[in-house]
Amino acid sequence: MNAMKSSLLEHTTAYIDGSWLEGPPKKTFPVVNPFDGKVLAEVPHLGADEARRAVEAAARALETPTPLARRRDWLLRLSEQLLSHRDELGEIITLENGKPLSEARGEVEYAAGFFRYAADHIDALRPRRVEDRPRDHDWMVHFRPAGVAALITPWNFPLAMLAKKLPAALAADCSVVVKPAEATPLSAIALFAILDGLEMPAGKVNLVFGDPAEIGGVLCSHPAVRLISFTGSTEVGRLLIANTAPHVKRLSLELGGNAPFIVFADADLEAAADHLIPNKFRCSGQTCVCTNRVYIQREAAPPFLDLVVERVSRLKAGNGLEEGTHVGPLIDQAGFDKVSRHVRNALAGGARALVGGEAPPRKSDGGWLFPPTVLSSVTDDMHCVKEETFGPIVPVIEFEDESEVVRRANGTEFGLAAYVFTGDEKRAERVIRSLHFGHVGWNTGTGPTPEAPFGGMKQSGFGREGGLEGLFEFTEAQTVPRGK
Ligand code: NAP
Repeated sequence: MNAMKSSLLEHTTAYIDGSWLEGPPKKTFPVVNPFDGKVLAEVPHLGADEARRAVEAAARALETPTPLARRRDWLLRLSEQLLSHRDELGEIITLENGKPLSEARGEVEYAAGFFRYAADHIDALRPRRVEDRPRDHDWMVHFRPAGVAALITPWNFPLAMLAKKLPAALAADCSVVVKPAEATPLSAIALFAILDGLEMPAGKVNLVFGDPAEIGGVLCSHPAVRLISFTGSTEVGRLLIANTAPHVKRLSLELGGNAPFIVFADADLEAAADHLIPNKFRCSGQTCVCTNRVYIQREAAPPFLDLVVERVSRLKAGNGLEEGTHVGPLIDQAGFDKVSRHVRNALAGGARALVGGEAPPRKSDGGWLFPPTVLSSVTDDMHCVKEETFGPIVPVIEFEDESEVVRRANGTEFGLAAYVFTGDEKRAERVIRSLHFGHVGWNTGTGPTPEAPFGGMKQSGFGREGGLEGLFEFTEAQTVPRGK
């Protein structure tokens, strides 16, 4: 069954060795619209056999190198085609993920930016001569493809998370096996419909989905897979480390976050509140870089809370396809239950809900809408501060001074994104240097961009996506000294 009408979803199946999977699948699973619970499509539930076939096809494709100029051409065309299909892809993202259409279209533009950046900077991967000529030899450094690369992605940016990996992998001339999240395979399928039109060698790009443990098992253990680039939870990231350890594979891990948003009393409070809203409510608060806890300096707490409450009260939660919706549903029942549990735990511990706080009872045909919520009098021992909530709630915590807030912000196993608002330049420099996070916004809530490296510290993972650093992630440096 396929209730989706899109020229990019003519095939709702896997793509292996240059072809869409043929024949009726043994088993399928439904892709559901999280706003109303309706089934959008049934897609094949695949496992180890298909994963193995995909890896082997990718390994064969790797045997024939693709000239750099052709790779650049693919990247440019992909960027252009994503933009020309912006509205169609945006609708697919909204339907399977729930986010508002304007955000979904923004995600397509963001995704296109990664292909464009890789095309524009692919010359950085040309061989480099070592200028020093050590030992009177010519030394060349070649950037070889790391090998077959497995790309495993989450549901919160079903297109962009793949677009942060695939351009760098193609630029390096890797061949890939993509495994998108079970909740949102349609955006990846739509991207593969575009890839299918590019006439790449069979096996260069492959797509499988279904049983994550079975597919993951093959990707972690097959000798042809040399690198796994994963975005998702720290829990699954740990599993991948353990499962690849016996096979010594390279890993690039973009894992969970617990972003602090620190506002000093000397900051422009209105600007801080303005930046907090898109940062916090993008994808209903289900992004790895979104604020998980707001720290406000005590003397500025009352006016700052007023500014935040005023803005959050105006947000409309609803169907992402409808004009005027700011916040869509949560992805599924488990996500909804987690957010509800965090809010209940905070209220039971003495926090106050200044906006929202409780979801209306879920209708039998309804999805997982949770109202935008602001909580005051929050303390560090509450679940919504200690864990990544992944939902549209703003927990506000008061602090006294600089060293205390730095200690509290760093008091997490995560180290992905943080935000600091202060008008004092010296203070900003001191605080940012002391924060153990890979991305620190200063007087801004903005997240990653294709032109700059992004990645985590501590248990938020390792490796970088975006920028020149991200472009080199899928390469192996091979050094060739030449004697006379
Ligand atoms: P997840 O449960 O870890 O899933 C991520 C991907 O891993 C999905 O494709 C999933 O497949 C797959 N997977 C699950 N078990 C696996 C296994 N045993 N072997 C191989 N793959 C397996 O994460 P999520 O809930 O989708 O995403 C939310 C998390 O991602 C949050 O913690 C968020 O912070 C993090 N995230 C991080 C970044 C970053 O850049 N650092 C960006 C976005 C999100 P199934 O869907 O089929 O289970």
